[in-house]
Amino acid sequence: MMSGDAGSAVLETRDDEAKISDKTKTKFDVIIIGAGPSGYTAGIYCSRAGYDTLILSGLLPGGQLVNTTEVENYPGFENGIMGPDLMIDMRKQSQRMGTTIIDDVVVDVDFRREPFKVLTASEEFEGRAVIIATGANPRKLGIEGEEAFAGKGVSYCATCDGPFFRNQEIVVSGGGDSAVEEATFLTKFATKVHLVHRRDELRASKVMQERAFNNEKIKFVFDTTVTEIKGDQKMKQVVLKNLKTNEESTLDAEALFVAIGHVPNTQLFKDQIDLDAEGYIVLKNKTHTNMKGIFAAGDVHDRSYRQAITAAAFGCMAAIDVDKYLTENADKG
Ligand code: NAP
Repeated sequence: MMSGDAGSAVLETRDDEAKISDKTKTKFDVIIIGAGPSGYTAGIYCSRAGYDTLILSGLLPGGQLVNTTEVENYPGFENGIMGPDLMIDMRKQSQRMGTTIIDDVVVDVDFRREPFKVLTASEEFEGRAVIIATGANPRKLGIEGEEAFAGKGVSYCATCDGPFFRNQEIVVSGGGDSAVEEATFLTKFATKVHLVHRRDELRASKVMQERAFNNEKIKFVFDTTVTEIKGDQKMKQVVLKNLKTNEESTLDAEALFVAIGHVPNTQLFKDQIDLDAEGYIVLKNKTHTNMKGIFAAGDVHDRSYRQAITAAAFGCMAAIDVDKYLTENADKG
């Protein structure tokens, strides 16, 4: 999959949906916050298990996959599938199972007592269980050309987009495990990978560093940041700045992989749900958060895999755990 501006198709489907969902209801068995692969999969499983289920999708139904083009690594699609199409299909599948989907933004939550409250600007919803599936966004460099060439050379996922850049020169920005791992992975395809890092030592684990240092295809560019991305239809060049000398240079490359960390979408939950130092949800047991009846699925807690298929799997797991929780709770009642 290659990051891009392909989200409009998802938005077009919303008009058809008024007849499918009862948008006047406010009380549900399960409320799922977020509509990426984990949210939609949780919706499919919860609704299919007979629970009255609401997905509040936020502003970008489909999540990160809406900003990708071709997905080649989601099983079941021999010839690949466009990211937005995959998300439309997941959305429709969840609706076919009975999930109500509302494309609204959650502005507040109250998980302190049951039923749990999830608020949008105009409505207050109640749920007996909640699945947080709000995902994470790749941290951006915030430089000129980054947005314009997203999907046209600029990528935030080497596993997804690396194969599109066979026999080409690639730049990777970052110095952590992700950057080093991605640089190493990208040498399978690229003629050369330039790893640009802002300091003179890597943050990545020693074993991963060693592997990268021993890889002849990786060239390390230390004390340097990417300050601009240039091109026409696609990116062609990055501008680099040496932070010690302030010297500027250019480097011709077909792709820039930005691997400078992710930002989980958990701001809303920080007062009630246990988060780690970087804001990821800390799971207590399987998909359970620290609060009874509140579950989490996907990139909002997973910093390791971050694939559509793993997010979907986490959604399935959370739904199964919700089923168990609601069944046990009903027994107690
Ligand atoms: P990370 O460890 O936070 O590293 C981010 C890197 O990006 C750092 O080198 C940082 O530079 C650099 N950076 C941050 N903001 C920047 C900016 N604005 N401009 C330029 N560079 C910037 O993130 P990560 O590599 O994604 O790893 C996240 C977590 O997942 C870590 O705990 C990591 O160990 C784990 N992880 C593990 C594996 C594995 O074990 N296979 C693979 C991937 C990730 P500084 O070093 O100067 O701060």
